[in-house]
Parts: sequence; C-alpha cells; structure tokens
Amino acid sequence: MASHPYRDRDAMRRCVEAIARRVSQPWTLMEVCGGQTHAILRHGLDRLLAPAGIALIHGPGCPVCVTPTARIDQAIALARTPGVILCSFGDMLRVPGSGEDLSTARARGARVQVVYSPLDAVRLAQRQPQDQVVFFAVGFETTAPATALAVLQAQALGLANFSLLVAHVRVPPAVAALLATPNHRIQALLAAGHVCAVMGLAEYAPLVRRFRLPVVATGFEPVDILQGVLRAVDQLEGGQARLENAYARAVTDGGKGNAQRLLETVFEPATRPWRGLGEIPNGALSLRPAWQAFDAEARFPLDQMPESSHPDCQAAAVLTGRLTPTECPAFGRRCRPEHPLGAPMVSAEGACAAYFHYRAPMEEG
Ligand code: SF4
Repeated sequence: MASHPYRDRDAMRRCVEAIARRVSQPWTLMEVCGGQTHAILRHGLDRLLAPAGIALIHGPGCPVCVTPTARIDQAIALARTPGVILCSFGDMLRVPGSGEDLSTARARGARVQVVYSPLDAVRLAQRQPQDQVVFFAVGFETTAPATALAVLQAQALGLANFSLLVAHVRVPPAVAALLATPNHRIQALLAAGHVCAVMGLAEYAPLVRRFRLPVVATGFEPVDILQGVLRAVDQLEGGQARLENAYARAVTDGGKGNAQRLLETVFEPATRPWRGLGEIPNGALSLRPAWQAFDAEARFPLDQMPESSHPDCQAAAVLTGRLTPTECPAFGRRCRPEHPLGAPMVSAEGACAAYFHYRAPMEEG
C-alpha cells in the first residue's frame, strides 16, 4: 500500500536535509496547535531537527488546557444546579477545576452529559423541555461556528431551555500576548492550519508587522510541519518577516466565509482570562447582546470563582513555551494521565500528554 504522501519517510528526510542545508545558526520556532504538538512528538520531528539547531517549542494550542479552573468550577456549579443538565465534550470531563473535575462531580450526582456536537445539546433540550440544558462551549475558532449554529437552531426551535457557558477563545490575540512578553524565545511562528482554514490569514498580518517575525500557516502531517519549518527558516536566514501559507491545500487567504459569518452573527470578541496567560484583550468570544437569552451567565446566578490550579502544576510555563513538559518535576511521577495535576496532561491535545505518550516510556525504560 502506498504511504501517505505527507507522512512519507523519504519526503520527511528530504525536508530535514533541506532545512539543515539552509540553517546557519540556531532558531526557535513555536507552534500553537495541540494537533501539531502531538504530530511533532509522535514522529520525532523535534529530534530530527535538533542536530540542525532548530528548537520547536509549544504554545497554548490546546483549548481544553487554556480553559481557566474558574470556568470549570462554574460548569460544575451549573451541573449541580437542580433542573440543569451540563453538556460537555468528553475531553473536558477529567480536566481539574480548582477542586474536582466534571467526571468526579458527575459520580457524586451532578448532571453531566457527554455530547459530540453542540447540536446534540440542542436535541437534548428539545427532548427534555422540563430541564435546562447548558452546553459548555470550549474551543478555538474552529469549533465556535458549530456552537453559533446551535444557538441559531435553538432560536429557530423556540427553545427557552438551552444556553451556553461560553469558553471559546481566539488564537491570534493569545499569540500577540506571548510575543509582547519580555524575553520570550519565539523567533518564528507556525500558525495552526485548522484555525487559518476557518479564519484565513488576515488576522496574522498585523502580528507580522508589529513583531517582525515570520508567520507560516502550517498543516498537521509531519511533512506539512517540516515544510512550514523550512519556509520559516528560509525567512529567518534571509532576515525576512512575512506571512506565508505552507498549507495551501486547506488554507486560503480569506478562509471560510460561511463559518466566519456564523461566528460574527452570534459572537463578538471579549476579554477573558486564559489559563497560564491571564487576561488577553479580545482573546475570547462572548455572545452578542442580541443573543444574551442564550447566555448561561445571564440565566443562572454564577459566582466569579478565583483561579486556583494545583500548586505543583507548571502549566502556565508549559502553555507559554517557557518549559518543556519533561522539565516539570511532577511529569510522569505525580502527574500522569491516570492522575493528572493539570489540564495539559489530561487533554488529548495537551503538550504534557504528548510527551508522556511519545517520550516518557522511552526515557523511563
Ligand atoms: S506535567 Fe502535569 S504538573 Fe507538570 S505542567 Fe504538565 S500537567 Fe502540570
């Protein structure tokens, strides 16, 4: 059987050789996508590139991981509210809040329902009009259009028992916040191909101008990532700072107009904290005033909880690329997927989980 063209070992080798030929000094590149982080670890791209002096560091590319503990605490509080069913994607269930997680809360009687799409939650609200159904809306710009569609659907159905606890976040403002941090190590950015596929490239142009660094929209297969690295390195070696698209088979300049219109209809940029990064101006999405009737924060009395992570968890440093997960003293010892101290070890897209699955067994063995 022919190998996948973007996972082909010879193509990977040719990319690595091309990068090595182009490099004259060490460079540090950041990706902001949990899918890319996992692909880098799974295929050992960091190790293939290290001899050429290329360091890959990982940014806050996992929406589950950047959801603050305070938001998870609010989700748990809602799930414990009589008459409320909290609907969530499965990967949020074991992410710790300040105390317990949704899974533990469910075992103790809270009503938590795993759904596979926001429309599942709308259908549940339709089937169970006696209950209030709240969808815990977590994700980047890639998943927010489906949430927007669910709100439109709930309105069309006249559902008064459906609402959202919104935790959607926007990637470019978070990248801007990282780049504005003193002493960051980021010399070029691999922009997440799935976000660019929806939103297009335009949001990154101001970052390229303001911070004068290469930004390359990059896909998820190993050859995609290596091609993105090659384009970024080529710019760095040439002293250039441009916005480039190395994922043309999925990303267009304008992105997906339909998805953007859905987003703009229902959501507006908002300022909320990210786990590890704090408050990021316009780094989140909130329901527009016209859709406040679907906002769980307006419908239910929710306390503003303080942010409170496990004291030994260094997720903030991991999510900002200042620490490699294996450098966390708890990694693989007190923090493992079966008893995680922080979100990056739980989520399928978390950096700590990626290192645990693809690196720890080798190094421990
Ligand atoms: S290894 Fe565990 S404790 Fe350390 S930063 Fe990652 S999630 Fe937190």
